[in-house]
Amino acid sequence: MSLIVEKYGGTSVGSIERINAVAEKVAKSHAAGNQMVIVVSAMSGETNRLLEMAKEINADLPAREADVLVSTGEQVTIALLCMALINKGQQARSFTGGQVRIETDTSHGRARIQNIDSSRIKKHLDEGRVVVVAGFQGVDNDGNITTLGRGGSDTSAVALAAALKADECRIYTDVDGVYTADPRIVPEAHRMDEVTFEEMLELSSLGTKVLQIRSVEFAGKYKVPLRVLNSFKDGPGTLISYEGNKKMERAVIAGIAHNSDEAKLTITGVPDHPGVAHTILGRIAEKDINVDMIIQNIAADETTDFTFTVPRSDFDVATAILEKVSSELGARGVTGDNSIAKVSIVGVGMRSHTGVADLMFATLAEEGINIKMISTSEIKVSVIIDDKYTELAVRALHKAFDLDQKI
Ligand code: ASP
Ligand code: MG
Repeated sequence: MSLIVEKYGGTSVGSIERINAVAEKVAKSHAAGNQMVIVVSAMSGETNRLLEMAKEINADLPAREADVLVSTGEQVTIALLCMALINKGQQARSFTGGQVRIETDTSHGRARIQNIDSSRIKKHLDEGRVVVVAGFQGVDNDGNITTLGRGGSDTSAVALAAALKADECRIYTDVDGVYTADPRIVPEAHRMDEVTFEEMLELSSLGTKVLQIRSVEFAGKYKVPLRVLNSFKDGPGTLISYEGNKKMERAVIAGIAHNSDEAKLTITGVPDHPGVAHTILGRIAEKDINVDMIIQNIAADETTDFTFTVPRSDFDVATAILEKVSSELGARGVTGDNSIAKVSIVGVGMRSHTGVADLMFATLAEEGINIKMISTSEIKVSVIIDDKYTELAVRALHKAFDLDQKI
C-alpha cells in the first residue's frame, strides 16, 4: 500500500463538474489500495476575488485579516471535494491548515512552515478515509491563521508529503508537465519525462512557472519524490528526480527559460576602491529590491562600470536611487534599459560537456542577436538580450541544443 499526496490547483477544482471529476479520480486511486491525502487550492479566480473585495475597503490590507479572508477560498474547496467523495460512497474528511496543525511562523501573507503534526491525518487514513487538506494556509503559535504566499498550495502539498513520508507527491495542474521551453513560443517544445531537482529550481526561478519555487526548495531539502501532472488528461507528467540522470542519451541541456520581467542599470565611471559595490547594492537592498545578475568590469582608468538587473517593476525606483548614489560617489553617470530579456539554457549535462556556452553564443550570433550581459553557474548560462528578440532566441537555442521534438 502506498501513501500518496495529491495537490489540485485552482483550475483543476474550478467548477462543481471539475470537483466531481477530481473526486472520481481520487476514489479510484483509493480503491486501488492507496492511502490518499488531497491538498487543494481555492477554485480558480477565488483568491483574487477575495483580495479585490478587501482592496475596495482599503488598499493597505491589514495582514492578519487578509489571511483570515483569503484562507476561506481553500476552505470552500475542501468541503466541496469531501462532499463529492462522500456522494460517491468514499469516506472522506476535510481539514483546514490549523486543524491539521500546520504550524508556521507569524509572517502573514508569506509564512513559512515550521512543523506539521501528522498524527491526525494518519489516524483517519488508517480508518480508511481520504483526507482532504486546505492548501496555502497554516496557523502560528498563537492560533492566528497564516498563509504561505501566492501559489502556496504547492508548498503545503510537498510539506505534507515530507511530514507523512509519502511515497509520491503529485501536483496536478493544467499543463502536462514541465516543458523544454514555453510551448506558446516554441511549438516544438516537449514535456520532459524527468528533470533533476537542481534543473527544476533554475527553470522555475527563470520563468517556467509550473511550481511555486519554494515548494521545489522544500522538496529538495526532504527529497520528496515529486511529479507534475495534468488533471485534465491522463499522462505520466514530469518526475523531479534527485540522483541526476544516469540515462545514456540525455540531452546536455534540459530546457530553455526566458524572463522579460527584468531591467538593467549601469553606473559608469565608479571610483575603483573597496566598499563601492556595497554602497551601490546596499542602497538598492534597503528598498527591498531584488538584484539578479551583477557585472563589474575591471578598472581601466581607475574607474569601473557596474551593471546589474532588477525586476522591471522596480526600474524607476532603482534608477532614482542610483542617480543619487552616482553623484555621491562622483561616478560618471547612470544608464538603464527596461526592454531587455533574460534567456537561459539549463542542464546538469553542462558539467561534463565543453563548448556549451560557445554553442549558445554562436547560435545567437547567427541570428544577429546582440548579447548585453552574460552570467553562468555550474548548470546554467544566462544572457541578457533585447526583449524583442526573445522568441527568436528561445526558438533558435531550442533547435541548436537538439531539443526540438522528434516526430
Ligand atoms: N489560492 C492561492 C493562490 O491563488 C494558493 C494556491 O492556489 O496555491 O495563490
Ligand atoms: Mg499554482
